[in-house]
Amino acid sequence: FYAVQVETDAGPDAAGDRLIVISDRTEEGRLNERKMEFVSIISHELRTPLTSILGFVEILSTRELEREKQLKYLTTVYKEAARLSGMLNDFLDLQRMEAGHHSYDFHVVEVGELIRDVAEQWDDRQHSFIRMQLPEQPVYVHADADKLRQVLHNLISNAIKYAPDSKVTDLRLQVQGSAAFIHVQDYGLGIPDDAKPHMFTKFYRVDNTDRRKIGGTGLGLAIVKEIVEAHGGTVRFESELGKGSTFIVTLPCMAL
Ligand code: ADP
Repeated sequence: FYAVQVETDAGPDAAGDRLIVISDRTEEGRLNERKMEFVSIISHELRTPLTSILGFVEILSTRELEREKQLKYLTTVYKEAARLSGMLNDFLDLQRMEAGHHSYDFHVVEVGELIRDVAEQWDDRQHSFIRMQLPEQPVYVHADADKLRQVLHNLISNAIKYAPDSKVTDLRLQVQGSAAFIHVQDYGLGIPDDAKPHMFTKFYRVDNTDRRKIGGTGLGLAIVKEIVEAHGGTVRFESELGKGSTFIVTLPCMAL
């Protein structure tokens, strides 16, 4: 524990007016904070999908339903359970990273190849069109390849999810001096101005009618930020509502 005592301008003779801040900076205190955060998240974020699962399972087990309806309800149960599971995984991952318990396995990674790799997986799965603009020469960074893949995966996944009427995502890699810039640009819904300051906050989701049906946990961008910063890099975005968004990851790159 430590205590900070602050006296007001009134001088030492003035009565009262002292502000004492006591802050618990012990490992135990931090652990307690994390536990409280976890409990609050369980109660707020997990309740909605759980309520839906319980409701549908109850209907399925107490009512005679046509096969078609049964399947429809079971699909919803499956989707909600998968969402819960994904949310828990992401959340635990993020907790570990924030606590510094997540080990990074740094190697020399060629970013162009990694981008091509991730983009290929998406093209196969989503039938979406990813345009790539990569430099001819290789770009080497010191990185944990799996974690960097996760960064790209989350950004491309958002670019596709939040651009329901446009199937094009642009990926660009550029080098300027000793920095590599990865741009992930979409031509979709864009981000409202009032949401912009909160984009990298855990569990934050933009609550607009245009995206209410799009699933997610609000953890993707928080994970991106955590990983990029662990690589000594930065992430930012530019966006205009109705026009699209560009997320820009900057990483220190190695001289050839
Ligand atoms: P999730 O997608 O799981 O909700 P994220 O942390 O990845 O969580 O994103 C947070 C919010 O930011 C999303 O709910 C979405 O509204 C908004 N967002 C993220 N990426 C984009 C994008 N490319 N275009 C428009 N909105 C986006």
